[in-house]
Amino acid sequence: MQETIPKQNVVLKVQNLKKQYETLTAVNNISFDIIKNEIFGLLGPNGAGKTTTINMICGLLPPTNGSVKFIGFPDQDPKSLIGYCPQENIFYPKLTCLEQLLFIGQMYGKPLQLLKERSVELLELLGLKDKMNTWASKLSGGMKRRLNICLALVHDPEILILDEPEAGLDPQSRILVRDFIKTISKRKTIILTTHNMDEADRLADRVAIIDHGKLLLLETPQNLKKTVGEGDILEIYFEAHNETAINQFIHKVTLLSMNVKKNINSVSIKHQNIIDHLSSIKNMAESGGLTISEIKLRENTLEDVFIHLTGRSLRQ
Ligand code: ATP
Repeated sequence: MQETIPKQNVVLKVQNLKKQYETLTAVNNISFDIIKNEIFGLLGPNGAGKTTTINMICGLLPPTNGSVKFIGFPDQDPKSLIGYCPQENIFYPKLTCLEQLLFIGQMYGKPLQLLKERSVELLELLGLKDKMNTWASKLSGGMKRRLNICLALVHDPEILILDEPEAGLDPQSRILVRDFIKTISKRKTIILTTHNMDEADRLADRVAIIDHGKLLLLETPQNLKKTVGEGDILEIYFEAHNETAINQFIHKVTLLSMNVKKNINSVSIKHQNIIDHLSSIKNMAESGGLTISEIKLRENTLEDVFIHLTGRSLRQ
């Protein structure tokens, strides 16, 4: 399932991690290695076990079984190695952005002058420099999220863990946070959780797909998309639902060795160079009595990978 990684590059080893809540297995025997300076995405739908996995890595939740080992930091307290930005924003409402960065940094025993420089740099990178002296409670939702990311980094950890970093962000803040994550990944190792495949696809060097607590696949986004076959996807929507005609159409398309999926009132066809087959596919549908209302052509996405693996969408 996982490619061989040179030992010296592994910074974190997760082995047979399990969390049992009475009859529910929230995390079921998950193992993976995290490589220095990679952006590692944990992708899965609501309730898949992402936060539970992260909480066990951070030491906030004891595992029922298995282990989390940091490699190459023999003298460091694991707590100082990790910067954690949880799903819910946590801050002191009546401290300014700068004050709370300094406060948290000092709790890690870092010198004040260094903390001041780092805090200003972080606030600037996350577009909050002009809010440096504003109370956290007076920030917008997106700004609070960005402040929380600064707070996770103020003690200069080796590994930054972000639980749903883009949740609740407007498109502008999302771009800012994505750029920030890319920039900071040159210096840090990053683990992020998401149920947004676009976020995982654009950001992560490797993606672990988890569902019902199990690790289904771990690969680069490019290779994940290859696992369900390269090529584009043609979505054909019909004006009226004619079950018999749609089934006959699907049968004919399948005979051309194309991968066809039936949706409620449309079909998705995946194939290499699908565009070359567009007119013959259209003829097949129309000669079979179907009226096409819309045709869409799109690239294979991680959502398609997830549907292929689990038979359902990430949003279901
Ligand atoms: P989301 O994307 O919604 O945040 P997730 O992938 O992070 O989901 P988890 O929060 O890890 O999912 O939850 C995994 C499962 O464990 C869910 O079914 C959840 O209800 C359950 N769970 C989480 N915490 C507890 C708890 N303290 N007691 C019992 N069950 C729990």
